[in-house]
Formats: sequence, C-alpha cells, structure tokens
Amino acid sequence: MLCCGSPDDAQNPARKPQPAPAPAAPSQGAPAPLIGRVPAHRRIYSNLGGRNRLRNLKGVVPGDSLAAMTAQCAEYIWLDGKEGGKGWKFNGLRSKTKVLQTHVPAGTLDGLPIWNFDGSSTEQSEGHFSDCLLKPVFTCPDPVRGAPHILVMCEVMDKDMTPHPTNMRAEAARCRDVTVDLEPWFGMEQEYTMYRPDGTPLGFALANGGTGGEVDAQGPYYCGVGANAMFGRDLAEEHMMACVMAGLKISGINAEVMPGQWEFQIGPAGVTEVGDHLTIARYLLYLLGEKHGITCAITPKPVKGDWNGAGLHTNFSTKPMRLPGGIDHINAACEKLGTKVAEHIAVYGDGNADRLTGQHETCSIEEFKYGVADRGSSIRIPLQTSIDGYGYLEDRRPAANADPYAVAARMVKTVCLNE
Ligand code: ADP
Ligand code: MN
Ligand code: MN
Ligand code: MN
Repeated sequence: MLCCGSPDDAQNPARKPQPAPAPAAPSQGAPAPLIGRVPAHRRIYSNLGGRNRLRNLKGVVPGDSLAAMTAQCAEYIWLDGKEGGKGWKFNGLRSKTKVLQTHVPAGTLDGLPIWNFDGSSTEQSEGHFSDCLLKPVFTCPDPVRGAPHILVMCEVMDKDMTPHPTNMRAEAARCRDVTVDLEPWFGMEQEYTMYRPDGTPLGFALANGGTGGEVDAQGPYYCGVGANAMFGRDLAEEHMMACVMAGLKISGINAEVMPGQWEFQIGPAGVTEVGDHLTIARYLLYLLGEKHGITCAITPKPVKGDWNGAGLHTNFSTKPMRLPGGIDHINAACEKLGTKVAEHIAVYGDGNADRLTGQHETCSIEEFKYGVADRGSSIRIPLQTSIDGYGYLEDRRPAANADPYAVAARMVKTVCLNE
C-alpha cells in the first residue's frame, strides 16, 4: 500500500453534522503522549519561550488546573489573497486573537463566533465600507500557546455571507462535497526558503545580493547533514514538531537543493483538509520564524541563475486510481490535464514562469508532458505506481506560493468533474 489512513474532512459539516470528532492531537481530556517525563504538548509550548505567558505562572498554579481556570485564546487565521504577490518579505496570511471565556474544544466549530476585520487594511475591501467577515471552518490545538488554546482557520466572507473573491476554499468545498464517492486524496510538498532580515537566503553570502558568494554550487545541500551544508535546521525541526502537536497531517520534512531551502509535506488529506492543514502549517512556520529572526518565504524563484526554485508539488489520487488497474485512471487523468493547461497554470502561483523554465527539475511552462519517474515532466507518475499498476500522480507545476484550495479545486474539476 502506498500510504495509510483515510483522509477525511472531519470538520465538514455537510458530511458529518454533529458533533465533529476532535483531531488525534492532544487536547484537554485525552492523556498526553510523553516525551521523557513531560507531556509532549506542554514540552513544545514551554520550549517555544517568548509567546508563552502561561509558563511564567508555573509554580503559582499547579499544571493541570491551569488550563481549566484560564480563558481560551483562539487565533483566527485567514488568507488575504496575496500569496506571493508581495515579494519575499510578506506572505498572504493574517491572524488575530479572540479570547473566549467558555472553552471550545479543538476540533469543534460549535461555539466559535463569526468575527470581522478591517478589509481595507488587507486589500480586501474599500475604506468606506471595510468590514469583512471571518467564518471558522477548521480548528486544531495551538502548539505554541499550549492547551487549552486553539488555532482557527477561517474563510473570508462578504457582509452578505457570500464568499469573498479572495476566498478559494468555498469552491474547494463545493468540489469536495460532489466527489465524496471518489475519495480524492492530496499530498502537497511545500518548499520554502529561509531568509535573513536583509533578504539573503540562509547560507548565501551577505555580499553580492545573495546571488552567489561563499556557497558552493548545488549538490551537497539536498537532504544533507553537517554545519557547512545545513542552514536553519533548528527552525525546520521546531516547525515539524509544532505541526505534529497541532494534529496536522504532516508527513515529513527534508532539506532542499538550494542552501537555506527546506520542504515539508502535508497529506494524504481531503480536498479542503489539505488546504486547511497546509495553511495552518504555513502560519506556524512564519510565526516560529519570528523567534529565530528568520523570514520564511514561499516565493517561487528565490535566487536567479543556477539554483532550484520552490514548488508546491501536488500528489493526487482518487479511489479508482488506488485500486489494482488504477494506472488506466491515472493515464486518463493525465490526458485530461493536458486539455486544461492554461486553467491550471492560472492558479498555480504568482511568478511561476521564472521557475518553470525546463531546467532545475521542471518542465517549461510552455510545454505539457507526463511520464514515469520523470522529474522534468509536468506530471510525474512515480516509479512505484507504474510498477504496482495503481497509486497516484504528481503535478510538479504548482509554485510554492500557490493557494492550496485553488490548486485542489482545479485538480478535482479537471479530473473528476470534467469542468
Ligand atoms: P517526492 O518523492 O516527490 O519528493 P514526497 O515524499 O515529498 O514526494 O511527497 C509525497 C506526498 O504524497 C506525501 O505528502 C504523501 O503523503 C503523499 N501521497 C502518498 N500517497 C498518496 C496518494 N495515493 N494520493 C495522494 N497523495 C499521496
Ligand atoms: Mn518531496
Ligand atoms: Mn522537493
Ligand atoms: Mn515531489
């Protein structure tokens, strides 16, 4: 079997009305896993220092009653629709904190109010009528603040509760709800680059604008080890642990081909679930970077020249593709993808033409081809899938800064809905 665990949009009200099950991650009530003698979720948040105000109360209030007597902080997170549109310095995520006097367990939406924000400050509305609405759609434990606090992924809505034009999740939810029988799965590989405050990627010389300098040519960095090849591992590790503690479906991390470049993978997960988990994981990455003085960016071509770009490879399968004989369904999907190239490229991220050059393990943006184990093709059929005769395909075209909801919706529309 290629992978295990059926992804399931557990918090999709259309599919599982009431009550939504809590995620597998530790939350209040369930016994916490132990690392040494300290419950793992407590260890993570006490390690994460700066933002952990509760730690200062240790000794004043015995550990376990602390959660019960404090109010709950719910971090409302949303996309401003500008992923990659602001260069390396700024990402497309926003968040603010709501303090709730009555706890809402992670994994439930009931009891989380709709909230609002000033859309004129996020380029999502005009100043004279600026309120946009935040509709909670997914929650998980907050691994930085610790229990009982939660992270809340939100859809942005207009005043009349219709989806805001920057809200790509609403369309993904529609695609999810009409393809339940096909059980679409996504695995997204998020590549990103770590930057110093001055804009040079970690590992590159400060001089020369970060386009060369002391680093050697590409080669020793991918999955490397050792102080002269690895830059920013502390942050990458801390981020992975935070995702694990949040109950996200993170499936791994690796150092990438360019120095200072890393990847984490989310999946397999459902059509909206992959975007929910990936967006929260992006949020945690940027947040933890604050403490390290490192800006993590998902810009598609961080360094011009002979350096790999950064992608959001999208692995995709449906139930028929995962069953014996599924290779026929995979080939048919590739053929369909070949008829919708422009529609896909349109939602595969800003500045992607700089990355899809035909070099550095990409296929040119002008071309479409698919092939077994071919990292120079648009769609790669993994070798194991070809050997087994079933499995999944990998769309290598999405750029690191693509909106995961838009990518997932587009894939389902082309392959499953013939739209
Ligand atoms: P690569 O070899 O391209 O670097 P990775 O191992 O980084 O691939 O990522 C592969 C991703 O695909 C993982 O997130 C994995 O969970 C996901 N995946 C595995 N099997 C399937 C499947 N059948 N359908 C969709 N995604 C899958
Ligand atoms: Mn990978
Ligand atoms: Mn990669
Ligand atoms: Mn890949």
